[in-house]
Amino acid sequence: MAIVPGAWVVQIKSATFHISARNAEAAPEWDRPEFALIGRSNVGKSSMINMLTNKAGLAKVSATPGKTQLLNFFVMNEVWSLVDLPGYGFAKVAKNQKIDFNESVGDYLESRENLRRVFTLIDSRLPPQRIDIDFINWLGETGVPFALIFTKADKQSPTKTKANVDTFLAAMPEHLKGTAPVIVSSSKDRTGRLEILRMIQQGLD
Ligand code: GDP
Repeated sequence: MAIVPGAWVVQIKSATFHISARNAEAAPEWDRPEFALIGRSNVGKSSMINMLTNKAGLAKVSATPGKTQLLNFFVMNEVWSLVDLPGYGFAKVAKNQKIDFNESVGDYLESRENLRRVFTLIDSRLPPQRIDIDFINWLGETGVPFALIFTKADKQSPTKTKANVDTFLAAMPEHLKGTAPVIVSSSKDRTGRLEILRMIQQGLD
């Protein structure tokens, strides 16, 4: 029997915004498999959700002012969920810099049993950012499977993207090297879409 690669890619037939939750306790009480997206603000998270679902404006609908600090749940095919997590940044705490991601995100990532994978988005144009590395280090400790998605690849040559990805991977904590799948993406030209959907399909199987 011929293997049809497309058969292993989840098809998104319906995508709807469900709810914005203030914290992990307010998250929907369901056992739907969840796939979360996170990254620094402006990394291209909303564009990616719209690109994956083929619904321009889906993520933006929920990203109305005041909602950017909330956990936004979208339902796909009435079966599984994409979760748009608030972006992280650096907060200056006394003289130290500390990862500032909302406590709700930490609680959600540490406790959500139906969370199948976290997609951590990284801007492919930048040299390794400490905050991304620190976040991945923290995420690695939770034991939740994750993948690295290098966004906005259309903005530069493939050679430059590859060089930046390699530099980033070399800067990863030693014990996490090689543990996470890597995907290069562009929401503009839809690069990486099938790879992401294939990974989601694997998480659903
Ligand atoms: P978010 O803050 O992470 O949700 O980021 P957005 O999805 O709102 O994107 C931030 C900016 O980057 C917007 O101006 C997008 O149009 C742009 N952007 C996002 N993804 C891409 C991409 O793949 N290619 C290009 N060229 N621009 C992108």
